[in-house]
Amino acid sequence: MDWISHLLFSFVLGAILLKEMNRETMAVVAVASLFPDLDILWHHRSGLHSPLILLVLALLLAIRNRALFAPLLIGFWSHSALDIFLFDNSNHTIQTLANQVVANQSVAQYIEDNITRYTAADGIMLFYPFSGEKFSIILDEKSYTIIAGFIILIAVITFLWLYFTVDRRK
Ligand SMILES: [Zn+2]
Repeated sequence: MDWISHLLFSFVLGAILLKEMNRETMAVVAVASLFPDLDILWHHRSGLHSPLILLVLALLLAIRNRALFAPLLIGFWSHSALDIFLFDNSNHTIQTLANQVVANQSVAQYIEDNITRYTAADGIMLFYPFSGEKFSIILDEKSYTIIAGFIILIAVITFLWLYFTVDRRK
């Protein structure tokens, strides 16, 4: 998934699960929700996407400040959860969409190649380091759109809800 979906999804979970969602916890959730993709620097969807590794990391980071644990874990695990879903591009949907924008077949092809290379993935290693097996749920265009739309919808509702309920006297 792209980073905007990761951010939105983690905020939604944070708003639902955390007792207090202030600016600081939101920042921690946001950073944690993007953190696993740092492995793009060496090998995307590495052990850094594994729930167990991320749990250990959250524990270590929260040694000095226990309040960090819940927001860190929510950010981390929301990332793992979303990355289990893969977009089935076998019908070249990306290329078709790109072609509608740029109206140039070879440029559209180029865009698709780069997007698929950048997001190239085959799920996440759910039980790493105990098993290197990757798990994924492949979605066709329609269900992918429904899920993406659903995330955006609850994100909007969450933001509105936070806006009207968060204590703004601070
Ligand atoms: Zn990722």
